[in-house]
Amino acid sequence: NRQILLASRPSGAPVAENFNLVQSEKPTPEAGEVLLRTIYLSLDPYMRGRMNDAKSYADPVALNEVMVGGSVCRVEASRHEDYKQGDWVVAFGGWQDYSVAKGDELLKLDNNMANHSHALGVLGMPGLTAYMGLLDIGQPKAGETVVVAAATGAVGSLVGQIAKLQGCKVVGIAGGQSKCRYAVETLGFDYCLDHKSDDLAQQLAKVCSSGIDVYFENVGGKVFDAVMPLLNSCARVPLCGLISQYNATELPSGPDRLSLLMGMLLTKRIKMQGFIVFDDYGHRHGEFSQQMEKWLLAGQITYKEHVVDGLENSVSAFIGLLKGENFGKLVVRVGPD
Ligand code: NDP
Repeated sequence: NRQILLASRPSGAPVAENFNLVQSEKPTPEAGEVLLRTIYLSLDPYMRGRMNDAKSYADPVALNEVMVGGSVCRVEASRHEDYKQGDWVVAFGGWQDYSVAKGDELLKLDNNMANHSHALGVLGMPGLTAYMGLLDIGQPKAGETVVVAAATGAVGSLVGQIAKLQGCKVVGIAGGQSKCRYAVETLGFDYCLDHKSDDLAQQLAKVCSSGIDVYFENVGGKVFDAVMPLLNSCARVPLCGLISQYNATELPSGPDRLSLLMGMLLTKRIKMQGFIVFDDYGHRHGEFSQQMEKWLLAGQITYKEHVVDGLENSVSAFIGLLKGENFGKLVVRVGPD
C-alpha cells in the first residue's frame, strides 16, 4: 500500500520535500467497514490549508499522516451489508492506494456510471460549490454581469456556464491565452481576460461597461483589486476561495485598504458572504446532482478534466495546481478499474 505522508509543513509554496512516499501494510476492515482501492484521487486547493498548523474550519493533517483527499474507489472487501466487492464509491480515502472506511461514510455510485471520476468534479464537491455559491449566494438574474476567476478550473468553469444558463453576461478571468480562448470558444463565456496581463483592471472595466453584479471570488489578490471598483450597488460576492493567497507567508505590502472596502460594502450595500461547501450545503447535494445531471445530459454543461497518471505524481501535480498548471479539474489516476 503506497501512501503519501505530510513530511514537513511548507513555508510559502509547497515543495517535494514536504511529502514522503512510503509503503505500508494493506489495512484490514473491522465490522461495519469496507476496504477500498483508490481508482481516482481528487487534488484540490483546500489541501494547501490542511498542510498548515493553523486553526481553521477543519483540522490540519498531522505530520507523518497520510495527506487527506476525496477519492473514487472500488470496494475490495466488505464487512458492511450495503456494499459488495467491486462496488464504486466516493470516499475520503486520501493520497494512498488502499484505505478503510465505515460503510455509512461513503457515497455509493452507480456501478454503470459513464465516468466515475466525474463524482469528484462536475457531479461532486466542486460542482456543488459552483452551483450553491452562485445560485444561493450570488442570486444572478438574467441580464446581469457575472465575473469569475480561475475561470477554466473545476469550480470557475461551472460557475460561468451556470450563469450563462441564467441569462447573464459572463466574464471569466484566467491565466494565459489558451485558457481564455477555451472559456469563450468552448464554455461560451462572453469574455475572458488574462490575469497575467499588465492592464487587467482597464480591460475588465472595458468589458464590464455596466459594472459587475456578481463576482464569484476564487482568487483574491490582484484580481479582486481589479474587480472592486467595478462592483455595482447591491452586488453579491460569494466568497469561495482566495487561492492567490494560500502560499502567502505575510500580509501583502502596500496601503491598508480595509476601510476603503468596508466603506464600499456599506454605501453600495454589497453582500459578501463566505461559505464552506459541505458544512453549508451538504444537505442539498441531491437537488444539485439532479439538476447537474440534466444539464450534462442535454449537453448544456461542458466539463474538462486534467488527469495525471500515478499516485507518485500527485505531489508535482498538487504543487502545479497552486501555480495554475492544471487545465480543468485535477484528478490523479491512482489505479486501474
Ligand atoms: P481550479 O481547478 O480552478 O485550480 C486552481 C486554479 O487557480 C489554477 O488553475 C489557476 O488558474 C488559479 N490560480 C492559482 N494561483 C493563482 C494566482 N496566484 N492568481 C490567480 N489565479 C490563480 O481549482 P478549484 O476550482 O478546485 O478551486 C477554485 C477555488 O475555489 C479555490 O480558491 C478553492 O480553494 C475554492 N473552493 C472553495 C470551496 C468552499 O467550500 N468554499 C470548495 C471548493 C473550492 P489560472 O491559470 O486560470 O490562474
